[in-house]
Amino acid sequence: MKVLVLGAGVIGVTTAHYLRRQGAEVTVVDRQPAPGLETSFANGGHLSFGQALPWAAPEAPLQLLTMAGRRDAPLRLAARWDPELWRWGAKFLRNCTPGRYRANANVLRKLAAHSRTCLGELMAHAPALKFDYQPQGVLTVFRTSRVFDREKARVADAISDQAGKAGNADHAQDPERVLTANDCVHAEPALGHARRAGKIVGGLLAASAATGDAHQFTHGLAEICKNAGVEFRFGVTVTRLRRVGGAITGAETADGFMEADAVVLALGSHSPLIARTVGVVLPIIPVKGYSVTLAISGEATSGDGVPRLGILDAERKVVMAPVDGALRAAGTAEFAGYDQSIDPIRAQAIARVAQDLFPELGPLPDAPSDLNPWAGLRPMTPDGPPLLGSLPASYGCTNLYLNTGHGPLGWTLACGSAKLVADWVGGSPPDDPSGTSFARFA
Ligand SMILES: Cc1cc2nc3c(=O)[nH]c(=O)nc-3n(C[C@H](O)[C@H](O)[C@H](O)COP(=O)(O)OP(=O)(O)OC[C@H]3O[C@@H](n4cnc5c(N)ncnc54)[C@H](O)[C@@H]3O)c2cc1C
Repeated sequence: MKVLVLGAGVIGVTTAHYLRRQGAEVTVVDRQPAPGLETSFANGGHLSFGQALPWAAPEAPLQLLTMAGRRDAPLRLAARWDPELWRWGAKFLRNCTPGRYRANANVLRKLAAHSRTCLGELMAHAPALKFDYQPQGVLTVFRTSRVFDREKARVADAISDQAGKAGNADHAQDPERVLTANDCVHAEPALGHARRAGKIVGGLLAASAATGDAHQFTHGLAEICKNAGVEFRFGVTVTRLRRVGGAITGAETADGFMEADAVVLALGSHSPLIARTVGVVLPIIPVKGYSVTLAISGEATSGDGVPRLGILDAERKVVMAPVDGALRAAGTAEFAGYDQSIDPIRAQAIARVAQDLFPELGPLPDAPSDLNPWAGLRPMTPDGPPLLGSLPASYGCTNLYLNTGHGPLGWTLACGSAKLVADWVGGSPPDDPSGTSFARFA
């Protein structure tokens, strides 16, 4: 079977890998000159196994209201009259009830646990794949008792919820561990300074989580795919899908028509633009985020000044991870359409959070460009889980598959999502796809 994978981000490349392993003839198309150059390029580096949660949460509406106006806030809603954004927003708000939050969190946890297993198998199958993988875990630190208490209750809730349900045992076996502020320093000595300054009240440790470099992973896996016979067509822009009756026959590109027996849509935030060419309206919007990559001074490296674990600052909503001898910090949710420009104030605000927790990093550079700022567009669904697998029957189209809408968790969920979608294309859909299929919005 000839399968066309549209997009060579972390999602498209992992999909190509699993499809090829199943024996499919795979071609991957991307407009960039190499894999992983858009949202999969300089993300936060967290593999958030054991702590994959939706943004649509009971506290989210209030956070939206209180933060939306500030230029250095972790969240920015540009006031725009965009009916799609407002429709998406209404769906997002409907998913903020405790019941919906819990259901969506369960879907994400299950997919993340599957992804962790798949990544483990992939690493065993391809030991040459190097991506600065650090399996020591991720520590969420809290600055206020109010948020810490709320999150402790959430963890207790999740454990009792999971323990009672067959098939969801992964999380119950591997819950986040509640730590006091002193325990946090024990787990991550680089937090000593912040603890002494009274900046942290406690933490949650996800021991199954890990960190690494998503771009290196995507690039390395693409090389493995190439050696296994996957064809990559870089520098080729897809303009539309071609549909004849109930089937997609291929994709129109700037380089001409590419024919296929099946097409997997893995264009990240751009998936809705191409899906629309065959009348499919996907509930995905781009949500811009930033990262900075801070050089680590000699002094900080030699002491305990730089974190070894992945860190999430719960209140400031910034993730941090050691990546290739530097410290990556990422955050911000900006609802600004497809604009990818970098606002230096936002990049600096993220860097300041890292420096506030880890002052031994030394003073931040004066020039914003020395922070190595980067911006990417998270492909966000309103409820959190991605869109995987075939279209609902009402579309009457059987050979277009989705692997898109992974929002803030694309790298975490990549291997599990790709394996599920490859199985689907190969004729073995999952037993219960309800939480991740497009049909949930139909
Ligand atoms: C600031 C930030 C921090 C993040 N931190 C984390 C984290 O710590 N952990 C985590 O798991 N996730 C994180 N994410 C999310 C994660 O990076 C994304 O979910 C993931 O990269 C999405 O991958 P993708 O392959 O779907 O999209 P992309 O990587 O964007 O790939 C889509 C590809 O499609 C191509 N394309 C688009 N349109 C066309 C077209 N018309 N023709 C041809 N090619 C096209 C693009 O060139 C691109 O290569 C973060 C995201 C951001 C923005």
